Amino acid sequence: MKMAQRMEKLPPYLFLELDRLIERQRAAGHDVINLGIGDPDQPTPDYIIEALKRAVDNPTNHRYPNYLGSLPFRQAVADWYQSRFGVSLDPVDEVVGLIGSKEGIAHLIWAMAGPGDVVIVPDPSYPVYASQTLLAGAEIYWAPLKAENQFLPDLSQIPEDIARRAKIFWVNYPNNPTGAIAPREFYQELVDFCRRYDILLASDLAYADLGFDGYRAPSVLEIPGAKDIAIEFYSLSKPFNMTGWRIAAAVGNRLAIQALGTMKSNLDSGVFTAVQDAAIEALTHDPTPFFTRQLALYQHRRDMVWTALNEMGLGIPKPLATFYFWFPTPAGMTSSQASQFFVQEANVVVAPGASYGQYGEGWLRISLTCDTDLIATAMTRMKSAMSRIPTRS
Ligand SMILES: *Cc1c(COP(=O)(O)O)cnc(C)c1O
Repeated sequence: MKMAQRMEKLPPYLFLELDRLIERQRAAGHDVINLGIGDPDQPTPDYIIEALKRAVDNPTNHRYPNYLGSLPFRQAVADWYQSRFGVSLDPVDEVVGLIGSKEGIAHLIWAMAGPGDVVIVPDPSYPVYASQTLLAGAEIYWAPLKAENQFLPDLSQIPEDIARRAKIFWVNYPNNPTGAIAPREFYQELVDFCRRYDILLASDLAYADLGFDGYRAPSVLEIPGAKDIAIEFYSLSKPFNMTGWRIAAAVGNRLAIQALGTMKSNLDSGVFTAVQDAAIEALTHDPTPFFTRQLALYQHRRDMVWTALNEMGLGIPKPLATFYFWFPTPAGMTSSQASQFFVQEANVVVAPGASYGQYGEGWLRISLTCDTDLIATAMTRMKSAMSRIPTRS
């Protein structure tokens, strides 16, 4: 039996060695602390769970859902955008419900790009933009995110012929894995660029509501004229601790929303309506008390990790958003060597930057979605492991 040829286009999995090492340490009885995964450790707020319980009892919810999202859910998303970002959306034509944004990201690429087309993908980035571009038979243009550019793509470096062939330009701010944010001026420049070349600007806003020190991330749709060329993905996964529920929405340009909806409805059948009802509760209930508590917890963990990394000589500025810490590898190690080092010497898993792209080499990612005491223990262990690295002359 042979898999389809397109499967050969997927990049090889680089971290088998790391996985083996983690297994070996666990088998030897070590308690390995995993700071490699970005998945909230806290429960979904009670009021959302209660709304789901009520919705499950409603038999009309047991039938096939509306493929594009129930109208009340899409209306709740539109209202959320109005109050949160001051962006007006038509719930019928400018909002589509998604089974998590990962699904929408993948299907948008299939709907918009194919052989001969270019998709501009940031490097490093969430791996789905690249893997789906390759499966869809389109070409990737990697836009490097460098520390010296605040992890923003340098638009002046994109060749004219690439810009002309590009169908989608992916951006994700607040950013996974770097924790970087996008200033409004950058969004303005990006909207101008995509309008000039008629490129669909696809903004992945997974971390919109995870800002610290009073920072509130903007939507790209706040830029005047953005709706002519932009689509945005808003997911309930990360802000509401709902990664397992699988619910998100795409909003913005009508043509893009329609293309995504058509592609989706040929492949899936929408989100369980009871989950959509619970999501309506999430978006309409006052989120401030929950967000305040949740952000204080992440902020406390962030400050702890920041202090510890500084003591290890791996200091970087405090990220203003997301629950990630992106920091340089110690002692000139590659990201793979450094991850293996921390597993072997500290029983702590940190994600190797190279798993997010070539420009992630030399970096590591710590996720703050782990019990606070375990993070503290992990920092102590990492510090001690670092002190055992022989200093090079
Ligand atoms: C977590 C994450 C997603 C996936 O979110 P779901 O809505 O749970 O599918 C998408 N993009 C980025 C950048 C993420 O970190």
